[in-house]
Amino acid sequence: MAKAYLIVGSGPAGITAAERIRNLDSDAEIIVISEEKTPMFYRPRIPEYAVGKIGIEEIMVKKKGFYVQKKIQLHLGTRATKLDKKKRVVETSEKNIYGYDKLLIATGISPIEPKFPGSRLKGVFTMHDLIQAERLKVAVRDAKQVVVVGGGLLGMDMAEEFRTTGLHVVFLVRRNSLGDPFFDEYGCKLIRDEFKNMEVEVITNAEVQSLEGTNNQLASVLLTDGRRFDSNLCFIAIGATHAVDWLKDSGLKIENGVLVDRYLRSHDDDDAVFSAGNAAQIMDPVFEKHIVQTNWINAIAQGDIAGNNMAGGGLRKYETTSNYFKRVGDLFFNLIGTGNLRMKGGKRNYFKGKTPKEYVMVTTKEGRVVGAVVCGRHKITVKLKDSIEKQSDFSNMDKLIDQEEKSIEDLSKLF
Ligand SMILES: Cc1cc2nc3c(=O)[nH]c(=O)nc-3n(C[C@H](O)[C@H](O)[C@H](O)COP(=O)(O)OP(=O)(O)OC[C@H]3O[C@@H](n4cnc5c(N)ncnc54)[C@H](O)[C@@H]3O)c2cc1C
Repeated sequence: MAKAYLIVGSGPAGITAAERIRNLDSDAEIIVISEEKTPMFYRPRIPEYAVGKIGIEEIMVKKKGFYVQKKIQLHLGTRATKLDKKKRVVETSEKNIYGYDKLLIATGISPIEPKFPGSRLKGVFTMHDLIQAERLKVAVRDAKQVVVVGGGLLGMDMAEEFRTTGLHVVFLVRRNSLGDPFFDEYGCKLIRDEFKNMEVEVITNAEVQSLEGTNNQLASVLLTDGRRFDSNLCFIAIGATHAVDWLKDSGLKIENGVLVDRYLRSHDDDDAVFSAGNAAQIMDPVFEKHIVQTNWINAIAQGDIAGNNMAGGGLRKYETTSNYFKRVGDLFFNLIGTGNLRMKGGKRNYFKGKTPKEYVMVTTKEGRVVGAVVCGRHKITVKLKDSIEKQSDFSNMDKLIDQEEKSIEDLSKLF
C-alpha cells in the first residue's frame, strides 16, 4: 500500500521535503497543508512586495504545474490545530482529520505581537505572510512617513524598502548600534553608512513606551525618554517565535521549537514525526547544542534531509552549519556558523577585500574555523561553510581568501 506522508507548512522546509519524498517514492501519497493561501513563495523578498516594488510572480518559487507534476496535494488555507501521535492524525481548524504514516512539522515561525499600549491601532503592522503584506501595501500608498520599530534583520529590510518608495523613515533601534548583534563592528559601520546614504533617520537607544492615536488611528510613537515621532504608519519587527502552539498537547518535546535529533526525528518512539526549518530545534554542528537556524538556506537543507529520512532514502545526518545571507543596500552579507557571536576563547581575524565594501571576518577557536561574517565575497562562503563543518585548521585561510575573485555580480543573481 502507498505510504501517506503529511507535511504541515508550505515553506522551503516543507516543500523541499515533499520534493525529496517524491523523488524517492513515486507511489507515495503526499499532502501538504498550510495556513498560507499562496503556494511557496520567496519569503525574504516580501518586504519588496509589501511596498509594491515587485509583483507576486517575482516571488513565486515553483513553476506553474509543479505540484500537479510532482503529485503533491497542496491544501492551502488549512490550519493545523492538534496532533494526536497515538492515532497518527492531525486535526485542522475546519475539524478535518488528516492521517499519516510519516509526518513533517514545518510550520516555521511567526512574528511576536507587540504589547505596547496602542499596538492595536489602525496603521500598526507586523508581517510574516502575504496577507499581512497585502494590507501593508495598501497602507503604504496613503502614507507620507513611517516609523519602523526594531533594529533586527527584518526591521532593516523594511526601513530600506519603505525609503525606496520615497517615504520619510524614522528607524527606532533599541541597541546602541544599528546592526548589533548580527554584524561585527566594521559591518555595523558599513550598514550605518548605507542607511545614512539612503537618508533614513536612525534613532539608536530608542525604547518605545506607547503608540498613540485618535479615532482608533495611529498618530504618533512615544519613546520612554519623551521623544515623540508623528506618523500614521508604524511597522513593528521585534522578533519572532516558533509557530508550534498547535502542538502543545501533543506530547512532543518542545523548547524553542520541536526538539529533533541529528536525523531530524522528533524524540518520538515510533520514528513517525519529523521536523525541519524554523519550527525545528536542531543539534547544531558548531554550537553542539540545540538551536533554531532561522534562515532560508538551512530550511531547504533541513527539508531535504527530513524528506530523505522520512522516505527511507538511507538515514542521513543533518550536519549543515548556519548560513544567513542578507542584503542591506549595496552590501551583501553572509553570516556563517557562529556569525558575529563572540565565542569564549574565540579569536577574530579580518581580511580586507578589494573595495571597502568587501571583507571577511573569520572567528577561530583553538585554531579551528567556527564562524564568519562575509561581505561582498560570496564565493568564499561555500568554502568557509565547508571549513566550519569539517572543523578545518585555520592556517591556510589567508591563502584561500586571497585567491578569491571579486564576485558581487555572482551574488546579485541570487536576489
Ligand atoms: C520578511 C522576512 C525576510 C526574511 N529575509 C531573509 C533573508 O534575507 N535571508 C534569509 O536567509 N532568511 C530570511 N528570512 C527567513 C526565511 O524566510 C525563513 O528562515 C524561511 O522561510 C523558513 O522556512 P520554513 O519552511 O521553516 O518556514 P516558513 O517559510 O515560515 O513556512 C512555514 C509555513 O507553515 C505555515 N503554518 C504555520 N503554522 C501553521 C499551522 N498551524 N497549520 C498549517 N500551516 C501553518 C505558514 O503559513 C507557512 O506557510 C526572512 C523572513 C521574513 C519573514
